[in-house]
Amino acid sequence: MEKFAIVTRYDETSKSIGEKIKETLTQKGYVFSEESPETVFVVGGDGTYIEAIHQYLDLIPNVKFLGLHTGTLGFFTEYQDNELDDLLQMYMSNEYKVLEFPLLAVQAGDKVYHAVNEVRVENVSRTQVLDVYLSGEYLERFRGTGMCVCTQLGSTAYNRSLGGAVIQDGLDLIELTEIAGIHHSKYRSLYAPLILKKETEVVLKSESFCKAILGVDANTYTLDQEQELKIKVCDCKHVRMIKGKSISYFKKLSTLF
Ligand code: NAP
Ligand code: MN
Repeated sequence: MEKFAIVTRYDETSKSIGEKIKETLTQKGYVFSEESPETVFVVGGDGTYIEAIHQYLDLIPNVKFLGLHTGTLGFFTEYQDNELDDLLQMYMSNEYKVLEFPLLAVQAGDKVYHAVNEVRVENVSRTQVLDVYLSGEYLERFRGTGMCVCTQLGSTAYNRSLGGAVIQDGLDLIELTEIAGIHHSKYRSLYAPLILKKETEVVLKSESFCKAILGVDANTYTLDQEQELKIKVCDCKHVRMIKGKSISYFKKLSTLF
């Protein structure tokens, strides 16, 4: 029988749904294992789902994720809190597809971090200068607060707040968006969000990242010592998601925004 784990948001509704999942599945012979689950149930929001992926990043080739959203619809989940029975039925009958989604990898010095939604450089202390290279080719010198590189999944998150385009599901693309760029007669950069092939390596170089932060989904890191960031779709890690029923992407968009 499959081994499973559960990640829940902090609220009581999510926790009690998590308990029900654990109870039902253990009664049916599934094995609860937080160390080596094959399926991770996520109860909460899109943020909880991303957190669960980060929690199980080291086991990622062997784990698939299944989400239930407590609140509204979510971009990562097709089931809501009144549909727990349907979700369990679907899981136990194995009537589902497993879809793979790419992760971004960012290399900063000798460290590599992975992102589901986006990688961003932000500097609120001073103007950040960034030289942008796309797969080895120089594009521009940017000046402003920073830049964001997102996945298709992440296009509705931070990227959307930056005025980036929402990318329809099924399109294997990444997007580069400026964060408060300076544009006038002396300095200019593209300004428009740029949608790129998934093979593109985005390199951001700077003489100084002093006081800049590297944002990787909900996590942040300091960048003071680095001079270069390499951002690319990760070749080896993909997220596997259980999809039982399908809800149209446009339904999600129109319901959520
Ligand atoms: P959070 O501050 O709790 O989340 C911010 C909001 O973003 C929540 O409503 C969350 O939905 C939603 N969200 C997360 N991923 C999404 C996606 N792919 N598509 C649409 N909405 C999404 O932080 P968090 O829950 O840990 O999530 C981290 C993400 O939040 C970051 O990767 C970043 O994209 C986003 N964020 C956005 C802004 C902004 O737009 N200015 C600022 C900070 C963070 P749920 O309520 O369902 O969790
Ligand atoms: Mn959240």
